[in-house]
Amino acid sequence: MKFKPANPSFKLLILGLSVLFLMLSFLLKSSYDSVIDRVAQNADNVAIALEGQLNQTFRRIESNLLNIARRMPVESLRLSNVPRYQNEIIKNLQDYTQNFPEVKSFSVWDENGDSLYHSRWAMEDTGKRDITSRDGFISLKNNPSINLVFSGSILGRVDQQPTMGTFYAIRNDAGKLIGVVTATLDINHFSNIYKAISLGEGSTIFIRRSDDQSMIIRYPPLSPGTNFAFRNPIQDRIDAGQFIGRERFKAVVDGQYRLFSYRKVAGYPFYVVVGVSEKNVLQHWKINAGLVGLGFASALLMLIFMYRRLRRSEVDQVLARKSAEMAYQVLEEAVKSVSVGFSIYDHNDKLLLCNEAYLEMYQTSRDLIVPGAAFEEIIRKGAQRGQYSAAIGRVDAWVAERLMKHQNAHGQATEQKLDDGRYVLVVEHKTPSGLTVGNRTDITQIKNLEAELRALATIDGLTGLPNRRDLMNQLTNELHRIHRQPEIKSCVLMVDLDHFKSVNDTHGHVAGDMVLKHFSAILKDEMRVTDHAGRFGGEEFAVLLTGSTTSDAGVFAERLRTRMEQLPTVIEDQKVYVTISIGISEMLDADDDIDAAIKRADAALYRAKNSGRNQVAVDGAVAPASLFD
Ligand code: GH3
Ligand code: MG
Ligand code: MG
Repeated sequence: MKFKPANPSFKLLILGLSVLFLMLSFLLKSSYDSVIDRVAQNADNVAIALEGQLNQTFRRIESNLLNIARRMPVESLRLSNVPRYQNEIIKNLQDYTQNFPEVKSFSVWDENGDSLYHSRWAMEDTGKRDITSRDGFISLKNNPSINLVFSGSILGRVDQQPTMGTFYAIRNDAGKLIGVVTATLDINHFSNIYKAISLGEGSTIFIRRSDDQSMIIRYPPLSPGTNFAFRNPIQDRIDAGQFIGRERFKAVVDGQYRLFSYRKVAGYPFYVVVGVSEKNVLQHWKINAGLVGLGFASALLMLIFMYRRLRRSEVDQVLARKSAEMAYQVLEEAVKSVSVGFSIYDHNDKLLLCNEAYLEMYQTSRDLIVPGAAFEEIIRKGAQRGQYSAAIGRVDAWVAERLMKHQNAHGQATEQKLDDGRYVLVVEHKTPSGLTVGNRTDITQIKNLEAELRALATIDGLTGLPNRRDLMNQLTNELHRIHRQPEIKSCVLMVDLDHFKSVNDTHGHVAGDMVLKHFSAILKDEMRVTDHAGRFGGEEFAVLLTGSTTSDAGVFAERLRTRMEQLPTVIEDQKVYVTISIGISEMLDADDDIDAAIKRADAALYRAKNSGRNQVAVDGAVAPASLFD
């Protein structure tokens, strides 16, 4: 008997199935990539926010320890003199802890490591305490060149709460250690912040030392305690000088694969790691992939079976078609079970196939989404009913843009905000035969997390300086300090770039941004560790100089002004010179709030601008005129 060729509809079915198979594998791969990329970006954002926060905490601790160390009278560092000094010094240490929720206590120790003053205990209790055998103390004692040392994470003797010690040396002119100031950092304070960040099940946040690898904080906590060390691939990267990056590996502690984003804390021996569990992220994706694979496998098996039967005998064509229909049904069911919203539009842009997840996403236009409906019709009616936030008030323009993207689909991702508050990520492809295949992922959770993170951030994204809100906090703390110790002066500087609008107009906005970064770099370079600067708004900056008189501040401002005047921003081989004007005011004991000092500095800045720009003006009559000749 001769082989009888299968009928044309059967051939078509085989062809269709193969094309669909290729498309689906492509789809699953691209949805996988976009999910992973989103998650990694989130981990990056969390790491940026946490690094900024830690960097500022360490800077504040360092500047407080430095302040305390500088102001301890030499005689007060002898045990026999403690009764004479303790009232005043303990009060002072308590003042420092008041505005510093992360710090449990400040203490002062003598050259042998014996306790002298402590913000939480009176002399009677402190007699027996000492830090003689602590690593931090020993390394300050033996290395005259080191002034600041951090300990690992330690459990409190009494309350079993984790803390970290910070040791700062008090030295005489010859460099010999004559005392030590310490601050005890409350690690739970950070753990509580990390608790509030929701990155999904199995995710982790931790802080490690970059020098000896010890774990300082891990959220969620591990049972054996947190202070242990082992090497991981991130450490190798940090040792090689790559201070920011991503890694993927299996964690030693629990054997889970995670995607890690890490950052070294600038200027301090710590790094922040944010890890997201792959298992959690990909669980849904994997179930879908498995179901689709199974569906296809059974459909193909059936086809092969039919094909062989057709070859062997002259089977009734009706039977063949029946089997083909069954195979198609299996395929349809597989597609339906995918939790990614899935759709295929034919070459006339009419809906061919979609699944339940796709319908669920578009509640407002759900009734319109039926096989045979035109894509344009569906989205236009949806837009008229207010389903797409971006289309409100501009339906025609939005539909035109959306159609343009849809008809030229090549895998690009578009976000849609829907009327019920959800966000959907749309990825579409055109197949060689003219079909448009779309997949849609619900990314609402991710978008909400992004918004949370933005609120948490204290760093200005462009310049890397603290933002207005953060600097206002610093200024307010400093004003409280002045109310307690008015004899130590501090100043506020308002800095504004001159004719900055014309930089934008002449060289473009991107060049303007480069000038802002250039100025910020100069500013950071000029600052001492006890100073604070922030970006106040567009091209306006504020600086807090602690422990400085207006004449100190004048010298600083003049130096800053001169450097900016002399150092151009290089933009595409072109040198762009921009100058600054600065207004200075002193913070006064009589000020009720920080706005008073800012207003005075602003008034001085206004005068500097009016007198021709590129100059420094000081509030009041205290300006040392000789500086500004
Ligand atoms: P003056 O010397 O009086 O300060 O003149 P000016 O042109 O610097 O002041 P004005 O306040 O008129 O203009 C400030 C300009 O700064 C306007 C705004 O477009 C621009 N600007 C604000 N923020 C940014 C930013 O982040 N990047 C860039 N490139 N430009 C910004
Ligand atoms: Mg300006
Ligand atoms: Mg301005």
